[in-house]
Amino acid sequence: MSKTLDMLERVEHGTPAGFLDGCKSRGGCPNHGSRTLTTCAEAARARQRHYVLSKLDLSVEITRAMIRLARRADFEGVLAIVAAAHQVEEHTP
Ligand SMILES: [Zn+2]
Repeated sequence: MSKTLDMLERVEHGTPAGFLDGCKSRGGCPNHGSRTLTTCAEAARARQRHYVLSKLDLSVEITRAMIRLARRADFEGVLAIVAAAHQVEEHTP
């Protein structure tokens, strides 16, 4: 496996951290084409653009629903989505 693929597999996709970790091309991200998930590049751009998202940790996954709420500056709505996502993770074995 190439070093690039190796690196991309370790990245948490759909997060600004993924962009910083090297997932910088739109088409190269596994989230490309998803209706609900953003690519790492989109997540990084959304975090820069929206104050509400800039408050989140770099490793928090940014979904399209979160960006819609961020456009309306609905921080509580964004936090509710983040909290729900973490709950799902906790219940997954
Ligand atoms: Zn990615």
